[in-house]
Amino acid sequence: MITLALSKGRIFDEALPLLQAADIVVLDDPEKSRKLILDTNRPDVRVLVVRATDVPTYVQYGGADMGITGLDTLLEHGSDGLYQPLDLQIAQCRISVAVREGFDYASSVRQGSRLTVATKYMAIAREFFAAKGVHADLVKLYGSMELAPLTGLADAIVDLVSTGGTLRANHLVEVEHIMDISSRLVVNQAALKLKQAPIRRIIDAFNGAVQRRMEVKA
Ligand code: AMP
Repeated sequence: MITLALSKGRIFDEALPLLQAADIVVLDDPEKSRKLILDTNRPDVRVLVVRATDVPTYVQYGGADMGITGLDTLLEHGSDGLYQPLDLQIAQCRISVAVREGFDYASSVRQGSRLTVATKYMAIAREFFAAKGVHADLVKLYGSMELAPLTGLADAIVDLVSTGGTLRANHLVEVEHIMDISSRLVVNQAALKLKQAPIRRIIDAFNGAVQRRMEVKA
């Protein structure tokens, strides 16, 4: 049995064509079903529906053999015990610094100044501002980061941006592009040894689908 951990929403939806390329069809819709273990057309493959931030944990400790997780989540979690064979190039976005319209970010990041930054991405934000030599006081939030600069909780946020629509709707502007983000395939290292052939087949099928999509785009 191969167990694959996925989170609902964008990653799940964008992973479906990759699964199909590996002849895996998920038989339930996680948006409609309350089941957390989903059957597939293959008796030897099942899908766990877990929170996005829990995917690396399930795979690291062997609760799942493989999983699909955003690079953002992976960098925050750390990649101990995780083999990362593929950038699946799905759920693409970027992680950026944003501030309120009219906020003088350039002066605030001059050497020696301090900046209060609200984010869910503490490790990414810490490393980014440390590399710039900016003293950032980080405030951990779990959601709706956009509210922080609007309410005076923070000067800036570090958050995922896709179209930029959420920032615009909240009168925020993107002032730094920290990095591009996409989803990665992660595999439990022990499972890779014990179930090498079926796991390799899935990795190869995903890789083929990613390559074909890149050729179509080019
Ligand atoms: P947008 O308005 O298109 O820029 O999307 C920004 C909102 O969607 C923010 O609340 C982000 O946290 C979230 N978001 C954007 N891309 C992703 C992604 N790939 N995975 C998870 N959340 C995302």
